[in-house]
Amino acid sequence: MMMDKMHGAQNYKSLPVILNRGKGLFLYDIHNNQYYDFVSAFSSVNQGHAHPQLVNVMQEQCEKLTLCSRAFYNENLCKFFGYMNKRFGYDKCLPMNTGVEGGETAIKLARLWGYKSKNIEENKAEIVVAKNNFWGRTITACSSSTDPTCYTHFGPFVPGFHFVEYDNLCALETLFKNHPNIAAYMVEPIQGEAGIKIPDENYLLNVKYLCNKYNVLLICDEVQTGIGRTGKITASKDVRPDMVVLGKALSGGMMPISCVLADNHIMELIEPGTHGSTFGGNSLATAIAPTAIEIVYSENLMKNALIQGRLFRETLLPYVEEGKLKDVRGVGLLNAIELENSQKAEKVVEKCMHNGLLTKVTKNGTIRMCPPLTISEFHMKKSLDIIKYVLNTVV
Ligand code: PLP
Repeated sequence: MMMDKMHGAQNYKSLPVILNRGKGLFLYDIHNNQYYDFVSAFSSVNQGHAHPQLVNVMQEQCEKLTLCSRAFYNENLCKFFGYMNKRFGYDKCLPMNTGVEGGETAIKLARLWGYKSKNIEENKAEIVVAKNNFWGRTITACSSSTDPTCYTHFGPFVPGFHFVEYDNLCALETLFKNHPNIAAYMVEPIQGEAGIKIPDENYLLNVKYLCNKYNVLLICDEVQTGIGRTGKITASKDVRPDMVVLGKALSGGMMPISCVLADNHIMELIEPGTHGSTFGGNSLATAIAPTAIEIVYSENLMKNALIQGRLFRETLLPYVEEGKLKDVRGVGLLNAIELENSQKAEKVVEKCMHNGLLTKVTKNGTIRMCPPLTISEFHMKKSLDIIKYVLNTVV
């Protein structure tokens, strides 16, 4: 920790635990203490740490080819495209590395579509984002954030964004009505970093209706909600957004890989040389991703997420009724508990750590509770015993 503090940029406030191993649901520190992982690398390790199938694919592919750039075609990328389009039902897929690059890519595609298809005057395209969104840390992401910790002292900002209250259809329609240059609305189906904020159950369906009515593209940022976390492969699956951004669990925590999915009328607007990334679509990450997704199906992880998520919320509901918790909420295994204030939440997180469960505060008094989707009923109950013990002693 001293080395980190002396030699590393302090852009994270990490908990005082030094990890060096992960297996399935568990993380281990340098003293070999075992912890339940209720962060899952911010919902990236849905398949559990060091999943043997993923380790195998990774080891085999490492020896064959890891990176050859997009200067050439690569076999795994071709297979990945075919797999992704079939699995998610879109015409085309554009691979990148991190979630924020996926968001940037979707915004570039939306602007392109705005000029080439919607006939918006050059440099006038606008994008709507929800207040309290989180989609990363680049200057564009800071420019479209309402969180002062994300944007303060990082200006000047990228223009062309409108902010709308999340889960407010009237406000969205008013924006669409008054601004004909809007090309897209980019939104998380559930706001993750904002504290697991769940909109009305018909919100996305109604958003899609408004987008169609005003000729605006709907981009769903599924970087955190995707790959089974909410009990569906994507939380927006039933709505079929115009673009879907995936990342995080796309490789089960093995490699950074993200992508945008869209149909030809959008994706065929992009031309060679106008977008890309040296590592985007590399042979290693694209070998891993299909296996990572198939694990979610073959191990019934979506069904398990629904069952264990319900158990989690039902078990902690009495604590809300007693007033020890302000709220317990979530969908599938994207859950949070909310305490009165951030000091209490920090205390709960610290005490959970001392009792063998790692988690982290999101916003204010809210603590994320996102274990790998592989968690069994036995281990969910054991984890809940730790959480209940901590709540009983701290709150
Ligand atoms: N989008 C959402 C919804 C996220 O939660 C995050 C990260 O937490 C991102 C995008 C950014 O992903 P990355 O950190 O891989 O750039």
